Amino acid sequence: MTPSSSLPSWLPALKKAVGASILSTDAESLQIHGGDAWFAHALPQVVASPRTTEEVSRLLKFASKHRIPVTPRGAGRGYVGGCVPVHHGISLSLSRMNKIKEVSLADSVAVVQPGVITVDLKKAAEAKGLYYPPDPASFKESSIGGNIATNAGGPRCLKYGVTRNYVLGLEVVLASGEIVRTGSRTHKNKMGFDLVGIFVGSEGMLGVVTEATLRLIPSPKARAAAVATFKDGKGAAAAVSRIQQAGFLPSALEVADALTLRAARAYTSNVPEGNAFLLVEIDGQPPAVRAELKLLHSVLSGCQPVELHVAPNDAACEKLWQMRREFSYSLKATGLTKLNEDVTVPRGRLLDLFHFAEKLEKKFKLQVACFGHAGDGNIHVNLMVVPERANSKEAIQALDALFAQVVAWGGVITGEHGVGLAKKRWWPTSTSPQLRDLHQTMKKALDPLGILNPGKFLG
Ligand SMILES: Cc1cc2nc3c(=O)[nH]c(=O)nc-3n(C[C@H](O)[C@H](O)[C@H](O)COP(=O)(O)OP(=O)(O)OC[C@H]3O[C@@H](n4cnc5c(N)ncnc54)[C@H](O)[C@@H]3O)c2cc1C
Repeated sequence: MTPSSSLPSWLPALKKAVGASILSTDAESLQIHGGDAWFAHALPQVVASPRTTEEVSRLLKFASKHRIPVTPRGAGRGYVGGCVPVHHGISLSLSRMNKIKEVSLADSVAVVQPGVITVDLKKAAEAKGLYYPPDPASFKESSIGGNIATNAGGPRCLKYGVTRNYVLGLEVVLASGEIVRTGSRTHKNKMGFDLVGIFVGSEGMLGVVTEATLRLIPSPKARAAAVATFKDGKGAAAAVSRIQQAGFLPSALEVADALTLRAARAYTSNVPEGNAFLLVEIDGQPPAVRAELKLLHSVLSGCQPVELHVAPNDAACEKLWQMRREFSYSLKATGLTKLNEDVTVPRGRLLDLFHFAEKLEKKFKLQVACFGHAGDGNIHVNLMVVPERANSKEAIQALDALFAQVVAWGGVITGEHGVGLAKKRWWPTSTSPQLRDLHQTMKKALDPLGILNPGKFLG
C-alpha cells in the first residue's frame, strides 16, 4: 500500500474548516495511525483528532465535499486491519474524545465518548456497584468506539452477551456530516427500526460513533471457578455437554487443546497435566455461588478429569484467568507467527472443529493451536507458521479450507474480530449474493460517496 509522500493540496482548506489544532501530518503520527494489531499498514495523509462531535461533523462535511477517504480509529487494537487507511486520506482518531460523561445508578446506564478505554468504563461502573460485562481480552487497551464498531465479544458472552447487548443509544455522525441520535437511555425501545443495531458492528463504514449510552447491570457479588483437564478433546467436549445438561449457565466456559497447553507449559508454571483444558466460571450471590461450585465440582469429577482444581473466591479465580491469558502469549513465544482466527460454529460442532484442526495440521504441514470460548462455539484457531510464511500459499489455502468447512457447518468465519481487511478475501465465499447486495444498499444509503473506511470488505 503506497505511502503518501507530500502534503495533500486540500490540507489548508481542511485547516480552515476544522482548525489546525486537531490535525497532524508529522511522520511519526502518520506512521502510528497506519496500522493496528494485524500486519497490514498504510499511511494516512492527515491525522485528525477531534475533541467534539461538532468537529467530527465539520470534518466529514469537508471530506464529503472533497471526496476524501476518512478511516475512523479507536485505540488501533483491532485484529483485522479495520482502521488501516488503505485509501490514505484522513485517519479520524477518536482517542481524544475519551470522557465518561455519566454513570447513573438510578438509570443503570453510562454515557461515554467513543475514545474511553473499556477498562476505564468497567472501573467507573464498579465504583457504583454496577457492571459493564463485555470483556474482549484487549479491554485494557481497546476503546468503546472500537468495541461498538466491531461488536466485540469475550469470555463472558455466554452468560452476558456481546457489546450489542449493552448499547442502548448512539450519537453518530454520518458521512455527510449530519449528526443523528438513535436509541435512548431506556432499557427498552421499539421506536422504528433497530438503527442502533445497524451501526454496532459496522466497522466504521456507516457512520462515526461520537457518544454511546450503555446498559449497566448490578455487579455480581461473588465468583468462583473450576479448571479441569482431560486425556483428550473428546473428554473436554463431553464435560461441556454435562455442564450444560446439569443446568449451568457459566459466566465463562473456556477450552484449550494440547498444543496450546504444551506452549503454555514451556512459558509459564502451574499449567495442569492433560491434553485438553476447561475453565468454568460461575458468578452471582455468595451462597448461590458456593452451592453451584459444589455441584460443578461433582459434575466435573464424574467426567474423568486428569486434574481438577477449584477457585472458590475472586483472588483464586484471577490466578486461573492469569494462566488462561498466558495462552496467547505462550503461543507467540514459540517464535512462530500466530494467524489468529475467530471462527464460530454451532455449539454441537465444537469437537468436529477440533478434529478438523488436526486434519489441517496434517494436510498443510503446519501446527494449529485451538483455544477459546467453548460456550459460544467461538474458537481461536491459530495457524502457527514460520514468520516468513505468514502470507504463504499454504497458509492461505489452510484458511480457505477452514473457512469453507465452518460455513458448511452453518458457522461464521468471524465471531468477534470482524471482517475488515484480513477476511476480505473470504467475504464473497462466506455470504450469499443477496446478503452482499443488502450490505451495499445500506452502505449507499448512508454513505453514497463511499468516503467512510473505503477498501475494506465492501470495497
Ligand atoms: C491482544 C488482543 C486481544 C483481543 N481480544 C479480543 C476479544 O477477546 N474479543 C474481541 O471481540 N476482540 C478482541 N481483540 C480485537 C480488538 O481488540 C477489538 O476488535 C476491539 O474492539 C478494537 O477496538 P479499538 O478501539 O482498538 O478499535 P480500532 O482497531 O481502532 O478500530 C476497529 C474498527 O472500528 C472502527 N472504529 C473505531 N472507532 C470508531 C468509532 N468511534 N466510530 C466508528 N467506527 C469506529 C474502525 O474504523 C475499525 O474498523 C483483541 C485484540 C488484541 C490485540
